[in-house]
Amino acid sequence: MSFIQKIADGAKHLGSRARDLGGIAGGKARDITKKSSELLEYTRLRHELRKMEREMENNLAGIGALYYQQQSGQDGVDEELKRLIESTRELELEMKELEEQIASLQPAPPSCSDCGKDLPDGGKYCSYCGKKIVE
Ligand SMILES: [Zn+2]
Repeated sequence: MSFIQKIADGAKHLGSRARDLGGIAGGKARDITKKSSELLEYTRLRHELRKMEREMENNLAGIGALYYQQQSGQDGVDEELKRLIESTRELELEMKELEEQIASLQPAPPSCSDCGKDLPDGGKYCSYCGKKIVE
């Protein structure tokens, strides 16, 4: 079996992943009050996003192989190609949503209550304006 054929065959199994993300892309309201759980969620979402990125790479490779076959005049790849492109587009949208969610969870650095500048951890006074830092 040729290399191209292998990738094209693999592409037939792509794009049909289980929707097990449990509301990640559903925009469910999350009631996270504790910082630690927020960080945990942040880490988990980052991990999900990396998995999706790998899936995206596989999909794109599959699309490439199928497209090549199609352009080389091979029959019967049109459907497969169309299906994979559609599901890749869905994946792209899900990734975008996930990225937005991650951005909203990104831990903000502490800032000075007086001048608003970012504060390095552990200091007792703002290094910009000298204001005492209240925890
Ligand atoms: Zn300050």
